[in-house]
Amino acid sequence: MPLYDTHTIKIYNSLSGEKEIFKPITKGYVGMYVCGPTVYSNVHLGNVRTFMSFDMIFRYFKHLGYKVRYVRNITDAGHLENDADLGEDKITKKARLEAIEPMEIVQRYTVDFHNVLNTFNFLPPSIEPTATGHIIEQIELIQTIIDNGFAYVVNGSVYFDVHKYNETNEYGILSKRKLEDLIHNTRTLDGQSDKKNPQDFALWKRAEPTHIMRWPSPWSDGFPGWHLECTAMSTKYLGERFDIHGGGMDLKFPHHECEIAQNKAAKGQDPVKYWMHANMLELNGARMSKSTGNYINPAELLSGENDIMSKAYSPSVIRFFMMQASYKSVLDLTNDGLLAAEKGFHRLMDAINLIDNLKTSDSSSFDVAAWKQKCYDAMNDDFNTPILIAHLFDAAKFINQIKDGSASITSEDLELLKQTIETFAFDILGLVNFSKDNYGTDKLSGAVEILINLRKEARLNKDFALSDKIRDELAEAGIQLNDSRDGTTFTTN
Ligand code: AMP
Ligand code: ZN
Repeated sequence: MPLYDTHTIKIYNSLSGEKEIFKPITKGYVGMYVCGPTVYSNVHLGNVRTFMSFDMIFRYFKHLGYKVRYVRNITDAGHLENDADLGEDKITKKARLEAIEPMEIVQRYTVDFHNVLNTFNFLPPSIEPTATGHIIEQIELIQTIIDNGFAYVVNGSVYFDVHKYNETNEYGILSKRKLEDLIHNTRTLDGQSDKKNPQDFALWKRAEPTHIMRWPSPWSDGFPGWHLECTAMSTKYLGERFDIHGGGMDLKFPHHECEIAQNKAAKGQDPVKYWMHANMLELNGARMSKSTGNYINPAELLSGENDIMSKAYSPSVIRFFMMQASYKSVLDLTNDGLLAAEKGFHRLMDAINLIDNLKTSDSSSFDVAAWKQKCYDAMNDDFNTPILIAHLFDAAKFINQIKDGSASITSEDLELLKQTIETFAFDILGLVNFSKDNYGTDKLSGAVEILINLRKEARLNKDFALSDKIRDELAEAGIQLNDSRDGTTFTTN
């Protein structure tokens, strides 16, 4: 019997504003679409957090035995500056500034994105479609929306008629906004005169002669609107009705609101059963964001080369830090928070690494089966990872007590405990144990540092036999010392 038969997940649906029992559209299957990155620059840690939340959710569904089709796109065209309908394409702008092809920008930052996700031990999605690979689907979708009377063509561009749509539908249903308020609050910007109303949004934009990324269409040589891409790609791979659509909280409006409008205008329904929004990572109390400059890149945090944190942190420590907060809560990235996460992560891994050497007895002083159930209950309650981690710490405490002799466990329970704690820590939270984590060098580097200093002392004392012995034996153990004018560093193989 698959685990999903005995575990009922509750999901907070942003559309209803309530936690709902998750009932997949097709038994045993989950279709999930998550808006991917716009590949015009390196991802920052805020982006990583959102994708990590959905990676954890993907992992849990898979663990329960669901067949999951997880689609996460790459936005490689059509996303304009300020998320608006005016301004330059983010990718084209970067290409212009660097005097290279837009597709070189796309390639560079797609590779960076994948490298970052690999570093943080993400599972690859099932399909990773690109916007530029689905221009034909987008043109077809626009034509349907025009045919249904919800879009109009002006000067080669196509706009979605929000006012017309709102006569029979509710624009703002997801973001809980009212069209009247939007009208009231919109400033009319120069150059928006093509639109009937400022609230309308572009489905297709005619390309200016200087715009490099362009495709032929019935309306003009141009490019698709950002919101449209996700509608075309999600329904192409997941069908006209699918289970989950996710993204960062900041995408609720206008991006996801417009996706709903496009789908209803084209197909008469919102294909999404559960809308999920992951909350923002903050830095210095404000949302991490490229445009405001308030951000830190993963590489800077992993190397320690930044002015914000006191030291470098490993990917699993950063992952643990993020998992200690609910995906629905705002999380502030601080040095103190990371230091505490590092301590907690080490405590958990130390306990897991003790398990194989524990002595077993005739009876257990800890109800392992009940504890296991609590771990599932936490995850079933809208993927509550902070509560799950609290339970994992309870088990860590118990493991330490067994080691001290102040608690006991049967061999059967020990096996269950080992299997459960490893499943939750590694398969579901996606943590990597020290010994397997390339960056899990915190302890290793501490130890090598001691040896480097001993070697330095030996050289100062002209004891070259000892200094060479330290270097050679470390090399045999797979640790190379590299001497330079600035001191000695090490690499592992
Ligand atoms: P973008 O490349 O700007 O389209 O963003 C990619 C994803 O990262 C989107 O799902 C955003 O919602 C998400 N995102 C952007 N900034 C943050 C942040 N500070 N915290 C969490 N997620 C974010
Ligand atoms: Zn999207």
